[in-house]
Amino acid sequence: MRSFTYQRVTDPSAAIQALAMAVANNNPPTEATAQPLAGGTTLIDLMKLDVMRPRTVVDINPLASTWSAINLDGGNLRLGALARMSDVAANPEIQRNYPVIADSLRLAASPQLRNMATLGGNVLQRTRCTYFRDISYANCNKRDPGSGCAALDGFNRMHAVLGTSEQCIATYPGDFAQALIALDATVEITGKSGVRNIPFAQLHKPPDDSPQIETTLAPGELISAFTVSGRWPRSVYLKARDRQSYEFALSSAAVALDVQDGVISDARVALGGLATVPWRAREAEALIKGQKFDEALAQRVADAALAGAQGRRHNAFKIALGKRVVARALHQAATMEI
Ligand SMILES: Cc1cc2nc3c(=O)[nH]c(=O)nc-3n(C[C@H](O)[C@H](O)[C@H](O)COP(=O)(O)OP(=O)(O)OC[C@H]3O[C@@H](n4cnc5c(N)ncnc54)[C@H](O)[C@@H]3O)c2cc1C
Ligand code: SF4
Repeated sequence: MRSFTYQRVTDPSAAIQALAMAVANNNPPTEATAQPLAGGTTLIDLMKLDVMRPRTVVDINPLASTWSAINLDGGNLRLGALARMSDVAANPEIQRNYPVIADSLRLAASPQLRNMATLGGNVLQRTRCTYFRDISYANCNKRDPGSGCAALDGFNRMHAVLGTSEQCIATYPGDFAQALIALDATVEITGKSGVRNIPFAQLHKPPDDSPQIETTLAPGELISAFTVSGRWPRSVYLKARDRQSYEFALSSAAVALDVQDGVISDARVALGGLATVPWRAREAEALIKGQKFDEALAQRVADAALAGAQGRRHNAFKIALGKRVVARALHQAATMEI
């Protein structure tokens, strides 16, 4: 691990100032310059592996006193970015009104990790691509732009089949993000120019020609909260993985439905484990709205959700698996008792 400056801040403005100063002292400012520290379960891992090399680490944990609240007021949800995954997953109101959120968190990582890890850190976790995480591999455009992509011709069983580019095929690994994108969540971002809100769907960037740029956050900006409009009691997060605990998704689906008199009036479908970014299957959703659920519909929706998928040498199985997960998640959401 390389040496770095550690700063612990007690309020949001001190955090923004510390990050801004660290960024300003480096030219050009890069993602690597200054990193906030939340639970540290991604950041410290990657610093030990020498993949991330921040010169300044700003510990934002004391901000939890203002940024970790779980509020369900007037039918809208606000989750502080420093709320711990385990606290949100165990909250009875979240379980009742947003099962897709509770399950996306409950099925992630391990109990110890969920006790440490925060919501903000979770959505910003980095890919698990082996070639990215092991610096003995020279070719990784995400770690070292322009160096190539070892996964294209390497072992790519865990890699993405949607949203890939010739520069990078790494999978976005998180679960919670699929629930957020399905529910049209908003991200509240705090920076030196104040607070701004963006749709969660605009937070992550597909790899295109610049896989090293993963989000639309400016250097030094912090995620302070997530908000969701309305309640989604008829929602499901289904995760297929190599083992039933402590494992990332091979394929997952976040599904939320609004059913009135047996007819689906609104439908949301997001996919995990399959794409380079949190992935909303909007064309597939369009097939559901106004329909009554049956298994044939679920199959059509599943086919549409994976229509643009491109398999490679070791991961083509994910396309068939992804369709099954989508169809089953739709079945579960449509038939659940609420
Ligand atoms: C063995 C293992 C298994 C795992 N399995 C899963 C799994 O199945 N599903 C899953 O979803 N995840 C899984 N994870 C990932 C884990 O959930 C994340 O590491 C965790 O959620 C990150 O949160 P954190 O608070 O520890 O973030 P940190 O490590 O503190 O931060 C992560 C990144 O986000 C930045 N950051 C943190 N908070 C903010 C903020 N508020 N604003 C701006 N930037 C911020 C940091 O600077 C850093 O770059 C696993 C991790 C491990 C180690
Ligand atoms: S898939 Fe992306 S992260 Fe993995 S080696 Fe290729 S460029 Fe690097």
